[in-house]
Amino acid sequence: PEPILRVKDLNKEFKTKSTKLFSKSVPVKILKDISFDLLEGETLSVVGESGSGKTTLGRCVLNGLDATSGEVVYVTNDEKAVDYLNLGKADYKKYRKDIQMIFQDPYSSLNPRMTVFDIISEPLVTNYDVKKKEVEEHVADIAERVGLNPHLLKRYPHAFSGGQRQRIAIARALITQPRVIVCDEAVSALDVSIQAQIINLLDDLQTEMGITYIFISHDLSVVQTISDRVAVMHLGRIVELASVDSFFENPKHPYSEALLSSVPKPDPDVKTDRIILQGEVPNPGNPPSGCEFHPRCPYATELCRTEIPELKETGQGKRHLSACHYADELELRGVWHANQAK
Ligand code: SF4
Repeated sequence: PEPILRVKDLNKEFKTKSTKLFSKSVPVKILKDISFDLLEGETLSVVGESGSGKTTLGRCVLNGLDATSGEVVYVTNDEKAVDYLNLGKADYKKYRKDIQMIFQDPYSSLNPRMTVFDIISEPLVTNYDVKKKEVEEHVADIAERVGLNPHLLKRYPHAFSGGQRQRIAIARALITQPRVIVCDEAVSALDVSIQAQIINLLDDLQTEMGITYIFISHDLSVVQTISDRVAVMHLGRIVELASVDSFFENPKHPYSEALLSSVPKPDPDVKTDRIILQGEVPNPGNPPSGCEFHPRCPYATELCRTEIPELKETGQGKRHLSACHYADELELRGVWHANQAK
């Protein structure tokens, strides 16, 4: 598959507010030199602890948050490359609808004072000149696709369960027929059985409509089921990028190894060995020198303390990238495999 989005050297920085106690505002880098291609029809999961920058990345791609520098190139249906972060007026109207987002919390992301019909149809009605009849047909079609009863659309969100609300949010994202959807922790707030239903729905929609997903999640069990590729973020950088199989089989970054060790076994009675990272999560306003993971990395050397490792190809080939000086020397597949074999 060809890239549908090309993200290049994306940086996002903001300044902390000065307070009585801290009179100086400090610049904090939330995204650092992020580069990757999103391939058409794939699901690329973005994982990492909270504060790693994954949500900011999703929002920058969507243009909800302005990037400080870098570019996001969108390859349109007719293979035109457009600068997505700086769309001119005409292109904005044409292409903004092609990338949509689904948020984490189906309870707070839907306006409680609007009917479900109005919630789903809003992106269409506010941005495009569509006749009422067409809107109604379109909403009914999308409702059916996502498994919502079209007769209940005059109700308000509070009348629906969490899973149903997430279906409403998905319908709203789909109404403009997007090509890319950024799912930000889209199933995290749901019970496990409902989670599985929503994942299946996202999967079916991908097959039927050819949608490409950026799937932001902290839950590696979900990520393993849904992804084609995985990007691991740590303190605003991508530190590993690989196909899902290669990532789970042969992680090439110590931070990924620690994340993988926390994946629970389906059997809750089986205790897994977890790598507990030593030390505090570093302060993003004052990140460590060299490899920013070094204060917590059990394998850190002097080189790690001084030199920032580049995200580059590992011995697993050019589709498996790691930003660790010792990516190919460390044997990192132990803990997850041992846990899964229990
Ligand atoms: Fe650990 Fe060094 Fe690799 Fe960073 S570069 S992850 S500190 S071994």
